[in-house]
Amino acid sequence: MAAMDPIVVPCPGCRALNRLPADRIGDRPVCSTCRTPLLGAPVELGAADFDRVLAHCTLPVVVDFWAGWCGPCQAMAPNFAAAAQDLAGRAVFAKVDTEAEPTLAARHDVRSIPCLVLLRGGHEVRRTAGAMPRAQIVRWVQGA
Ligand SMILES: [Zn+2]
Repeated sequence: MAAMDPIVVPCPGCRALNRLPADRIGDRPVCSTCRTPLLGAPVELGAADFDRVLAHCTLPVVVDFWAGWCGPCQAMAPNFAAAAQDLAGRAVFAKVDTEAEPTLAARHDVRSIPCLVLLRGGHEVRRTAGAMPRAQIVRWVQGA
């Protein structure tokens, strides 16, 4: 990918895919449909939009498989949101509620939560289970 190729990212508000010139990443771009800020916040995905987003998103996507009854998931949620800010424009942070979306969790072979799965072009790169602090999430997504 050339340095100035546009990026394609899902909107955290309405999940519409937005195409964005690479040199506008620092300009706090908003969704062309609903005007929600596009970068820096996790996007909730379900079976209805997961495949479409993963197929078209040009950035690495890190998916947090979580559930409302899971204490460590609740504890990690603010860290995950903060890491999404740290990597705004470099990675897309997505959340899948495993209770609402059991088929997505099964398809990705999620056995214990919280489970983070990093995908690129729809293909899994790596995964990890267990809650992590903000800086550790950032390092893990960046491959360290
Ligand atoms: Zn939107």
